[in-house]
Amino acid sequence: MVSDPSGNYLGYFNDGQTAANHEVDVAFGPSGLLFGLKGAAKDQHWTYEGLQPVRPVPKTGPARLRYEGAAEARLIIASPQFAQQVLQHAPQLGTSAGHKTTAKIAAMCLAGIIAFGLFGWLILSAAPSTVATLIPNAWWRYMGAQIEATMIKSAKQCNGAEGKKALARMAFRFADNVEADTVRVYDLPIINAFAMAGGRVVLTRGLIDGASTPDEVAGVLAHELGHVKARHPEAQIVRVFGLQLIMSALWGGNGMGDAMAQGGAMLAILRYTRGAESEADAIAIELMKKAKINPKGLADFFELVKKQPGVKVQESLGQIGNILSTHPGLDERIANIEKLTVGPTTPALSDKEWEALKAICK
Ligand SMILES: [Zn+2]
Repeated sequence: MVSDPSGNYLGYFNDGQTAANHEVDVAFGPSGLLFGLKGAAKDQHWTYEGLQPVRPVPKTGPARLRYEGAAEARLIIASPQFAQQVLQHAPQLGTSAGHKTTAKIAAMCLAGIIAFGLFGWLILSAAPSTVATLIPNAWWRYMGAQIEATMIKSAKQCNGAEGKKALARMAFRFADNVEADTVRVYDLPIINAFAMAGGRVVLTRGLIDGASTPDEVAGVLAHELGHVKARHPEAQIVRVFGLQLIMSALWGGNGMGDAMAQGGAMLAILRYTRGAESEADAIAIELMKKAKINPKGLADFFELVKKQPGVKVQESLGQIGNILSTHPGLDERIANIEKLTVGPTTPALSDKEWEALKAICK
């Protein structure tokens, strides 16, 4: 959630003294930004005059802010609406900072990035998934949101109220700690689904249109939740970009943005090994069995994907393409599910909920 009805924006705060990054609620006060730990009182006040940009704030966000007298602290807010609003209150954020400690901070950042880079280089090739666990989840959520925006481009998010309720109920059957906003549908005609760093799942309208039962959608959702649970997206980002690029992206560098803009980088992030796909399938089957939803829904979905050769996907989703349809080993994955013995199950959604989900983009 980027902003809630009370006008709060989700931000990430680092005090510059410790490595901890805190999720904070940020609001516009009469004379400055008010923020505090998520759900707690807003005990920080940064006046509009005192705000300085880490980099000039673009109208599309994210806003990476620091504050006079607290030069090492950082406040990062991803929302474009926030960027536009804060630029009105503090126009100086749109231009380069003339802060006298800029060079010093840059040097410190550089030293930090080099140290992280060396550290990363030592252990990266060994265990990206271990490295991924060293980075706080708040940062992964921030990066997941950036990657999602890059990937989705201008596609509209589908917000049909009843459809969203149905989808949330489906997600809830798999894990009672899945938040309603974790799973999103975008109005894209292709058949695809992605797990994002930080735990979000993206489904396309094409996938819901193409599925003939709610169990098929549930199968895909469970599979993506399997990737989330096994932290595949995070490990893959570490593998593709390396730690120093991730650090520079978080602290205002443009390295990862440039890297992502290059053809193939996004594809590399989202293309998992067969081992990872099998692991996600195995978790999906467990989730479905526990939720008493027939795991054959996932196999049925793979059959659907097999029947979609030559779909023109490149035009509709830029660099992403249709990973599901080009991924090898579908027959084996289908066979693994078909041989399961399944106890009593109920449909993933009621008929009424399924109708609502099918209309989520209308
Ligand atoms: Zn997968």
